[in-house]
Amino acid sequence: AQGPLYLGLDFGTSGARAAVIDEEGRVVQDVKKGYGEGAAADWIGSWHRVLFELIGSVDPQIRAGVAAVAFDGTSATALLVDPRDPAHGVLAPAKLYNEAQNKEVAAAAKAMAPPAHTATAPTSTLCKLLTWWNEVDTDPAATHWRRHAAERGLSSPGPSTSASSVGSRGSTPSSGPAPLLLHQADWLAALLHEDVGRGTSDWNNALKLGFDPGSEAYPDWLARQPFAELLPARVVAPGTPVARVSAAVAARTGLPGDCLVCAGTTDSIAAFVAAGVTEAGQAVTSLGSTLAVKLLSTTRLDDAAYGIYSHRLGDVWLVGGASNSGGAVLRRFFSDEQLKQLTPRLRPEAPTRLGYYPLPAPGERFPVADPELQPRMEPRPADDAVFLQGLLEGIADIEAAAYRRLADMGASPLKEVLTAGGGAANPKWTEIRQQQLGVPVRAAEQGEACYGAALLARQGARQARAAKAAASTAVVAN
Ligand code: ADP
Repeated sequence: AQGPLYLGLDFGTSGARAAVIDEEGRVVQDVKKGYGEGAAADWIGSWHRVLFELIGSVDPQIRAGVAAVAFDGTSATALLVDPRDPAHGVLAPAKLYNEAQNKEVAAAAKAMAPPAHTATAPTSTLCKLLTWWNEVDTDPAATHWRRHAAERGLSSPGPSTSASSVGSRGSTPSSGPAPLLLHQADWLAALLHEDVGRGTSDWNNALKLGFDPGSEAYPDWLARQPFAELLPARVVAPGTPVARVSAAVAARTGLPGDCLVCAGTTDSIAAFVAAGVTEAGQAVTSLGSTLAVKLLSTTRLDDAAYGIYSHRLGDVWLVGGASNSGGAVLRRFFSDEQLKQLTPRLRPEAPTRLGYYPLPAPGERFPVADPELQPRMEPRPADDAVFLQGLLEGIADIEAAAYRRLADMGASPLKEVLTAGGGAANPKWTEIRQQQLGVPVRAAEQGEACYGAALLARQGARQARAAKAAASTAVVAN
């Protein structure tokens, strides 16, 4: 006999991955699928196909026990859809997380948002929406989403005279509803519940759209824009139950009819959630190609100069920053195999004092904001093990400086650091870092985004059960 199970689905940059966990958080099954060659020609079709293939590759008995599902997607990946049929009514190719929009659009975003707002970055979801908004059918380079919208009977609001009228007002009257902007994770969830309404998103995905998770609303500067009717109307906490899977999807997939689809999050936050930290002062350092730090804090910090911003998770803030240093520098000098061979010769108890600041190229963002900062990785000692130790010490210095900077800015004091990414496997580096950081450092047991999404699904199911129990208690009390 198995208890309820929870399915987390991660749609990353190169493929999708699913984890099913039980009530205790044990992984019951883990499956993955690449998007395949040619996916780039039709991302939407690939995601759609891979979603049902992934669910289909979960053991049927396990599938039948899934009480809740949640998704994570790449941050700022956006779609424009017909809200009445989001599966087939995608109006234009998806705009991917890393697609920078043009200067005029970024300038228009800057003109409407507060200075240095994260939604003003050229890759932000807001800029993607503005690009769509300003596309007109007379522009031959445009994707003609307005024509698709008109064919489907959707209203086609927005500037309809000139492509240069960035941010201008005006709308074309029409009978149908307006098109709807969804994030990748919102859209995938909608494929399962098929109950879109005017759209549901989550605090994390909606941050780069301009949503304010502090007041839990779109700020005035955004809500008064003429394109505001395209925004998802409901933006909820990650893990909030949204709707049950549709009857058609339950029949097609073998998921139970009462399986809940819960609000999701972004891929990097899902990876953080996977580590299982819950208290202010707990942090996760990701030692992948770059060095990223994320700290749970009771206070919210935002500082564009350092590229620091805060996501909301429950009642705490997830403050994040990223250095340009990290594993990519190590890879310039050593293969992963060489790293493994040299590591036993490292002597954390005997610091090299080489004073390196390892960077793959000049320029740093955090903890030092200096676009001209030069890498310091010389002199190179004859012994590779000493050189490697110097590099690892240098990166550990940067990590420690990053957490000190967050504390100086008012974040909750650091209590514990969990480690994710390729560098987490290096025990000597962990020792070096522990000396620098002055708090316990250990590897995160789970670092996969799909596991974090599964934890959100579990949280949503628990929330729904608690609400049901409260409702039946109220009935009894009456
Ligand atoms: P990403 O997903 O960001 O590319 P990963 O989390 O896969 O990165 O981590 C890869 C990085 O980990 C590489 O840049 C590599 O230099 C580093 N790495 C791999 N093995 C070790 C090791 N034993 N010690 C330190 N760093 C390592």
